[in-house]
Amino acid sequence: MIEDIKNMPKIELHLHLDGSVNLDLASKLSNLPLETIKEKMVAKDKCQNLTEYLTKFDFPISLMQTKENLIKIAKTLIQDLENDNVIYAEIRFAPMQHINKGLSLDEIILAILEGLKSEEVKTNLILCLMRNHDYETNLNVINLAEKYLNKGVCAIDLAGDEIKYDINNFQKLFKTAKEKHIPFTIHAGETSSSTAVITAINYGAKRIGHGIKVVNDKQAKELIRQKDILLEVCPTSNVQTNVIDTYSHHPILNFYKKNIPVSINTDNRTVSNITLTEEYIKLYKNFNFTLNDFKQMNIMAINHAFITKEEKEDLLKKIQ
Ligand SMILES: [Zn+2]
Repeated sequence: MIEDIKNMPKIELHLHLDGSVNLDLASKLSNLPLETIKEKMVAKDKCQNLTEYLTKFDFPISLMQTKENLIKIAKTLIQDLENDNVIYAEIRFAPMQHINKGLSLDEIILAILEGLKSEEVKTNLILCLMRNHDYETNLNVINLAEKYLNKGVCAIDLAGDEIKYDINNFQKLFKTAKEKHIPFTIHAGETSSSTAVITAINYGAKRIGHGIKVVNDKQAKELIRQKDILLEVCPTSNVQTNVIDTYSHHPILNFYKKNIPVSINTDNRTVSNITLTEEYIKLYKNFNFTLNDFKQMNIMAINHAFITKEEKEDLLKKIQ
């Protein structure tokens, strides 16, 4: 079973570039020993909360300020995805976090796209608006997404501290995104409530990052089914950020049984110290998911990916 899990073609839709910088590469780029790098970039198995988990992004972001480094980091991520048999990934990052040494937004996007070029792993970028950034800054990212839409960028997202910065502050931005026909997913119901998930869906989000707080909200679950919204679940990350006490209590089984579209993701390969294969193995051991269950979840992921009908059909063929 473990071998089968490793070998099966996979889709990953919720993957942060800054949280997935390869450790050996980070060590090389910074001239620091691997042990120091691990301390700086890997979160504890159990953090106090999301805020503590988010402190592990500062160091990798400091390395992601030059074209050369961005290319290398993206290239190495492709190798990591290939090792996991990921055939399609949507990789997200916040462009505004990479301008500290003077890179332009275009240079940032083009460097990452160059690093991601691959025959084996197809990818698209999701650009993250940040909850702690002001309106104008986030509007710039929407305009950037519009410029590169279908040219390597497929959507936008909203990331950052959900509790400190309420989703209601971002209504105008998502109205603008909708008018520009830019698809979006929103981090919601990870640390906040199921109400935030409902708000995100009402804004027009086609997918929700995490969304686990809807587990006890029948109305929210009904809305998700009705509107065919996919929850991008990341179980290991949820245990680390302490929104789920222990892995076996993750609501993924509940969602799957109740016909809520779900996909499996690592969130952050480095900060969460996990591969997608390892995440599947943990799910298999805790919930007895079968290979067919995993395949169904990959089919749901493909159906909700931000790509064309033809691209979806092509991926579906590959996983059959
Ligand atoms: Zn995330």
